[in-house]
Amino acid sequence: MSRDNLKNNSYKNQPTDDGKFGNYGGMFVAETLMPLILDVSNSYSKLKNEISFRKKLQYYQKHYIGRPSPLYFAKRITEYCGGAKIYFKRDELNHTGAHKINNVIGQALLAKEMGKTKIIAETGAGQHGVATATVCALFNMDCEVFMGEEDIERQKPNVERMQLLGAKIIPVSSGTGTLKDAMNEALRHWVSNAKTHFYIIGTVAGPHPYPMMVRDFQSVIGEEAKKQIIEAEKSLPDKLIACIGGGSNAMGLFYPFLDDKVDIIGVEAGGQGIPTGKHAASLTGGKPGILHGNKTYLLQNDDGQIIDAYSISAGLDYPGIGPEHSWLNDIGRIDYKTCTDKQALEAFYLCSQLEGIIPALEPAHALHITMEEAKKMGPEEIIIMNMCGRGDKDLSAVLPKLKKMGKL
Ligand SMILES: *Cc1c(COP(=O)(O)O)cnc(C)c1O
Repeated sequence: MSRDNLKNNSYKNQPTDDGKFGNYGGMFVAETLMPLILDVSNSYSKLKNEISFRKKLQYYQKHYIGRPSPLYFAKRITEYCGGAKIYFKRDELNHTGAHKINNVIGQALLAKEMGKTKIIAETGAGQHGVATATVCALFNMDCEVFMGEEDIERQKPNVERMQLLGAKIIPVSSGTGTLKDAMNEALRHWVSNAKTHFYIIGTVAGPHPYPMMVRDFQSVIGEEAKKQIIEAEKSLPDKLIACIGGGSNAMGLFYPFLDDKVDIIGVEAGGQGIPTGKHAASLTGGKPGILHGNKTYLLQNDDGQIIDAYSISAGLDYPGIGPEHSWLNDIGRIDYKTCTDKQALEAFYLCSQLEGIIPALEPAHALHITMEEAKKMGPEEIIIMNMCGRGDKDLSAVLPKLKKMGKL
């Protein structure tokens, strides 16, 4: 598709009023859910440009999350690669250690404005659950977090953290007891408690308006990065790179640059390698279908059954991807690549040793591709990578593997 076919010649004018990004997205939900999401959609459209709402959001971004996050020139990794200058957008320095809170604060403020007193969230690895429980404590709202039984077992420290923050964990045993089942259950619960409850989705997935709304709240990442790189280098970057689970930190960095002359790469989790089938690369290894209220690329078998995703990084193992990514992939605006578990572990180790920054396993995937790209580019060129989370949470998973690799 040439750019001339785009509405107002811009990649940023999506979605349509009914939530379509090209053929993707939309509102594929049961009739009982429709009034709820229309209510969210109308309230969000009304509030998003109101000055008092923007002021409140900016207040919490600055004083609670700690924004703006720095844009940091990673000098030693740059020298190690011997090519393009590598900058990290330091969203791992946010309160709670990742980008998730950017979105949760926005949606919780919307819920308050709508007069809702109780929050529902789904969580897989527990990062979105922790961010939601945090903000519910801050705003004195009840918090119920739906989590697969399998994940509760695997992510015990985050379960304990959520409980300490005052959230109630609701175990989900249907399906495989993981993230996609938790999200189904949360949607069901919302329908039965529509009057009082607001559902905060953790990534750019779900029915319209969620993919758009989450993208908007995360776009603060790219807006800041654009200002910061112009201040530091007097130019735009040549490349942007971010990892993709559902795709929210990536959309947040990418969106403000979509109409600029900047190459963009999204990095999916290649797990043990695409041919093994043990991966979480929905675009690279999946095909279009419908899940959680929207049409997008999904991991599925020949009968259209959703397959569980696999990645060493719990935050990346979602079997879908936000519909805007599916569209940007098909029209060729963004390139999507994959990084295996092993490559991510190497990058995790290198970043810790060279920069004194222990990255989360998720952005370690982006870092591997960043280093590969930097090596092919010239020293006058610039890459910005989103360092979307810190790695403390991953140490118990990573340390035994690094020992096995002979690193420690
Ligand atoms: C949740 C999470 C992700 C994946 O979610 P996206 O919506 O793709 O950003 C990536 N990194 C970290 C640190 C996370 O916590």
